[in-house]
Amino acid sequence: MQKIQMKTPLVEMDGDEMTRVLWQMIKDTLLTPYVDLKTEYYDLGLPHRDETGDQVTIDAANAIKKYGVGVKCATITPNSQRMDEYKLHSMWKSPNATIRAILDGTVFRAPIMVKGIEPYIRGWKAPITIARHAYGDIYKATEMKVAGPGKAELVFTAEDGQEQRALIHNFLGAGILQGMHNTKASIESFANACFTFALDTKQDLWFSTKDTISKTYDHSFKDIFAELYESKYRQAFEEAGISYFYTLIDDAVARVIRSEGGYIWACKNYDGDVMSDMVATVFGSLSMMTSVLVSPEGNYEYEAAHGTVTRHFYRYLKGETTSTNPVATIFAWTGALNKRGQLDDLPELCEFAQRLERVTLATIESGIMTGDLASQFQGEAKKVNTQDFLNAIAQGLC
Ligand code: NAP
Ligand code: MG
Repeated sequence: MQKIQMKTPLVEMDGDEMTRVLWQMIKDTLLTPYVDLKTEYYDLGLPHRDETGDQVTIDAANAIKKYGVGVKCATITPNSQRMDEYKLHSMWKSPNATIRAILDGTVFRAPIMVKGIEPYIRGWKAPITIARHAYGDIYKATEMKVAGPGKAELVFTAEDGQEQRALIHNFLGAGILQGMHNTKASIESFANACFTFALDTKQDLWFSTKDTISKTYDHSFKDIFAELYESKYRQAFEEAGISYFYTLIDDAVARVIRSEGGYIWACKNYDGDVMSDMVATVFGSLSMMTSVLVSPEGNYEYEAAHGTVTRHFYRYLKGETTSTNPVATIFAWTGALNKRGQLDDLPELCEFAQRLERVTLATIESGIMTGDLASQFQGEAKKVNTQDFLNAIAQGLC
């Protein structure tokens, strides 16, 4: 059989622990037998990040900027326990945070739906994709406790020395304070990424904030989205038959629960943090959730939403076979291959990626799956280990 050819390399970012094991298994079983895989390989495994002083992460992010599409394995974000475990020179930052800072992107997370694993909310028929703004607000806030009576003010000093002041509160006793910010540039790039992704995936876009209460802060988000929609995207949305819809966050929550799904829900940073966990839980689990970072320049980085599945890895090291779910990592690869195919005009590559997704889902629907899904499956489930699950998919591909 002639293997499918590629034109431009994918930026391949290897990772850690159990997902590093899955990575190789997926390539060997489902990709290289069918595709003449062209990648530029970056080893983001923690030992190599440490050896390179984390330069490899920066190089990988720049490679995504150069080629346009990357696929990333889950990686360890070091903490003090990992410092000892890996004898690290430094507590390196989260690779995802480093890559996001370089690409300046928005993360879109969507559940992978399969028949037999029904969402807890029965009305949800299609995936809800959460687009989370990944900069600022309470995640970059300054906080303070005050011990007793006094006046708190918000002060901005412009470069020319001009001051802007506003009273926050006249404290009569002890209390707490928080100052947070966002930037016009970051909100605009968030909005552009959301509109672009909606057009790309032909889904409606919802956006929600609390602009009735936060008349300047949240209202600016609302205004920036509205201005960009009118000036840049309305026509393309109408041509694509999709819509942009703004509503208050509390109204959005009620509508989301009553909806059938099948749209993108753009959320401010905190709302996205909370709502993405809710959506993931309703649809099943993190092992059935894809994640793609889209930069305002149109670069794409695909990954699984879960971590490196450490507990399974320790069992693997002891020689046990594990039933770790590879679906989200398979979908990271198919997402990246499909996008590469679109950009390079390689319909065969797109068709392969889409077929691999269909066959993966059909394998689960036929009753063959990993342990995490078997316990939720409505129907007769045969729990298999990861390699046997991949082999079953490979059989379906033939
Ligand atoms: P995790 O790796 O997602 O695993 C948490 C638990 O969820 C697992 O122990 C397992 O439960 C279940 N699980 C997750 N993915 C699964 C899969 N594919 N198949 C079957 N079960 C799955 O999260 P964590 O344990 O909090 O983090 C481990 C490491 O991952 C940390 O070092 C963290 O820094 C890193 N991390 C990386 C990323 C990323 O690169 N994007 C994201 C999150 C975390 P059972 O053990 O009960 O089976
Ligand atoms: Mg969270």
